Amino acid sequence: MRRWLVVMAALIGVCWSLPAQAQERPRNVILFIADGCGPASFTLARDYLRATAGQEQLALDAHLVGSVQTYATNSLVTDSAAGATAFACGVKSYNGAIAVDADGQPVATLLEGAEARGMATGLVATSRITHATPAAFSAHVTSRSLENEIALQQIGQGIDVLFGGGKQQFLPTDQGGRRDDGRDLLAEAAASGYHVVTDRAGFEALTATPAIGLFSDSHMAYEVDRDAAAEPSLAEMTRKAIDLLDDDPDGFFLMVEGSRIDHAAHGNDPAGHLHDILAYDAAVAVALAYAADTPGTLVLATSDHETGGLTLGRDGQYAWRPEVLARLTHSLEPMVAALREDGRPIAEVMRDMAGIEDLTYQEGARIEVALDDPGRLAAALSDVISRRALIGWTTGGHTAVDVNLYAFGPGSEAFSGHLDNTDIGRMLARLLEIDLDALSAALQARAVGDAR
Ligand SMILES: [Mg+2]
Ligand SMILES: [Zn+2]
Repeated sequence: MRRWLVVMAALIGVCWSLPAQAQERPRNVILFIADGCGPASFTLARDYLRATAGQEQLALDAHLVGSVQTYATNSLVTDSAAGATAFACGVKSYNGAIAVDADGQPVATLLEGAEARGMATGLVATSRITHATPAAFSAHVTSRSLENEIALQQIGQGIDVLFGGGKQQFLPTDQGGRRDDGRDLLAEAAASGYHVVTDRAGFEALTATPAIGLFSDSHMAYEVDRDAAAEPSLAEMTRKAIDLLDDDPDGFFLMVEGSRIDHAAHGNDPAGHLHDILAYDAAVAVALAYAADTPGTLVLATSDHETGGLTLGRDGQYAWRPEVLARLTHSLEPMVAALREDGRPIAEVMRDMAGIEDLTYQEGARIEVALDDPGRLAAALSDVISRRALIGWTTGGHTAVDVNLYAFGPGSEAFSGHLDNTDIGRMLARLLEIDLDALSAALQARAVGDAR
């Protein structure tokens, strides 16, 4: 009788725990990071779509589940390195840290954990692939500036798909790269079995992993300036990465970053910022459609921090004007080049590239006095455009504002409410049954061994 009770209790225990586990464990995880994109930036993009395309919502909007606090160990305002280390490793660290803890010790990443579980892995970014966000998933260095070392670690990790910019960190100086060790990492990767492509045609032809696609020397173009014949969009890279990764029976882990949303916000660049957010949302839509068709796929989307201190409405006015942004056909960078390098007249550039037909004398004068310095000129152009659009910026850097969290698919119920950025990494590890602490202990033991 007593034995039966024990058996019954065990069975109840099994039944109790089974549904929760069966429900939670996703087969595939696609983690989206909108670098430098706070809540106001998503409102900007949504209001813009509503005003110009009659679209009521972003693809992301239906999946908002919470907010994320972003501070680093050494500052309430994080950088992308500490932010990505929190997501990738579940560990708080200092600004500049790439998958190392506050003491500079290497800490294991979700990508390493996924590889250890036999999952396929991929990283997609529009910045240099060695830039802080993708770096923190794929390398361990004490400073984000060590991009040549990051490239070296990236090609030795067994990552199945790497798409983005940043050829320069993989090529020696005599081939136009920035490596002073003389190594051609793309040739080395190809020799070790990677399919290496550097242009649109090569990208289209990719059908197998492992694959590296690097489509620019440094960062890829802002979406608003992108030459579609030369560079794939973030949505295209996302679709291709999923196609390449999804035949692994153990599932896949893919990180996709809208990297340059942040860069445009640093430059207070309205069109650069807006169109990179829209491109990011389009990439999320690709993943959501895949996840809707592919049971077992968790799509998570968040941001590492806000950048620019963007406000919609300014100077006491209860309005902002998306139609001003709709007339912009370029980011600030080519406008600066047209004025300074091509010497084109201010009124002509403002008409042809910003859609401003009625530039005032005062606006023209503000631009003219800044012509001799590219930074001041970009700031003057931003100011003229932003005042017309009634949007404001408080900084050329990051802010401490909480960021949005979106989730869809199995395991998404674990993500709700207000979370810390390290919770994202910790909870993903738990869902994927990855023991980050054990992997970190092994990494640190190896680092000590290497040092001896
Ligand atoms: Mg980034
Ligand atoms: Zn930034």
